[in-house]
Amino acid sequence: MKSWSERDLEYIWHPCSQMKDYEDLPPIVVDRGEGIFLYDVDGNRYIDVISSWWCNLLGHCNPRINEAIKKQLDELEHVIFANFSNKRAIELCEKLVKVLPKGLCKFNFSDNGSSSIESSMKMSFQYHQQVGNTHKKRFMALSDAYHGETIAALSIGDCDLYTKIYKPLLMDVVRIQGPDCYRCPYGKCRDNCSCECFEQAEKTFAQYGDETCAVVVEPLLQGSAGMKIYPPLYLKKLREICDKYKVHILADEIATGYGRTGKFFAFDHAGVAPDIMCLSKGLTGGYMPMSIAVTTQEIYDAFYADYSTGKAFMHSHTYSGNPLACAAANAVLDIMADGSVLKNANINAIYFNNLLKEKFAGHKYVGEIRSIGLINAIELVKNPATKEPFDSKFRYGYQIYKQALKKGVILRPLGDVIYFNPPLIIDRDTMNFVVNVAYECINSVLAGV
Ligand SMILES: *Cc1c(COP(=O)(O)O)cnc(C)c1O
Repeated sequence: MKSWSERDLEYIWHPCSQMKDYEDLPPIVVDRGEGIFLYDVDGNRYIDVISSWWCNLLGHCNPRINEAIKKQLDELEHVIFANFSNKRAIELCEKLVKVLPKGLCKFNFSDNGSSSIESSMKMSFQYHQQVGNTHKKRFMALSDAYHGETIAALSIGDCDLYTKIYKPLLMDVVRIQGPDCYRCPYGKCRDNCSCECFEQAEKTFAQYGDETCAVVVEPLLQGSAGMKIYPPLYLKKLREICDKYKVHILADEIATGYGRTGKFFAFDHAGVAPDIMCLSKGLTGGYMPMSIAVTTQEIYDAFYADYSTGKAFMHSHTYSGNPLACAAANAVLDIMADGSVLKNANINAIYFNNLLKEKFAGHKYVGEIRSIGLINAIELVKNPATKEPFDSKFRYGYQIYKQALKKGVILRPLGDVIYFNPPLIIDRDTMNFVVNVAYECINSVLAGV
């Protein structure tokens, strides 16, 4: 009889994968999840220290979220969201408005992160068209950005791995040379710099600010670029310059929202608010595909007029406002409401980061260990003194990933950056275990260098 993974490979084209790699590493068919653990069909246990692609927030099969979805399931599974609504979606907005940065109060639902990026780009463009800024037709984004995989989202992204082949199809986006704190061209350090690198943004705004609708930004953490972290001051400066040039800030908090950076939203660190914020991933605790573009009354009002004016936002997704997803999202906010989850996560974040720093102190190939909230990343380089990276053809990160899987830890890397982005409920025993496995696997793979 065929195994589950053989049956899988007969039909399934997995995301973001060279399928030929599966000859050597067949798909791991997961049967069951509990907390931070996953169990495959052969009974092997894996620690999900990447939160199943950064979305699982409060553990797999969290009893309270499970209960909320089950209850909703017997009442209503889905209903059209144009002209109709549902209680769970309404409750969700009422809850979210209390934790969002001030001013964000109008909610436009989609069903995945990329779609919310696209809808907010359209929203910003249409806003400017309708308030008379008809010359504003372009978007800005940072170098090394990642905002998703659909065509407009890819256009504002800047990771060659995902965009290169599609370049002929992509929009012409204005690129800001963004912060690069590990290899800072100004020789500064992210903990105490004045964001000298912001002069690059100033130059770009001076040239293109007038024709720009919005700048799209992953606040504080450029995840896909290798968990690159930059200081909140950058966002403050961005807010100022955007006000000056009447450019919207479109905050992609898809990965950073829901406590991942230590505060509820990454923008909270900067004490300023964006004009549109995209939420997904942690939004449903990693249970259901849902996203929201949240915006201001001012943007909303630019669309509010008699039907005949043609000013409506004619954007929709079939599953907008899905009650099951909203039920999960409500349960997540209920669980986080008293602040204890985040408080604990922040205490553990210090422990985790110290653990890694001690374990890898003076390591021959560790260029930088950086952290924000519970997210930690180890950038492996050929030479820490010069920060020279390894040749990507050796795929050391991938080798480390494969070894760690054998030891029951999911360490899916970004190139040669090994990262940890665990559910907020991770405990110290698990952290110890994961750090030891990472250490063994990194040493074992790099012993051959
Ligand atoms: C995951 C992610 C997206 C895309 O979300 P999808 O649901 O995968 O389309 C966009 N931006 C950031 C920062 C992300 O991490």
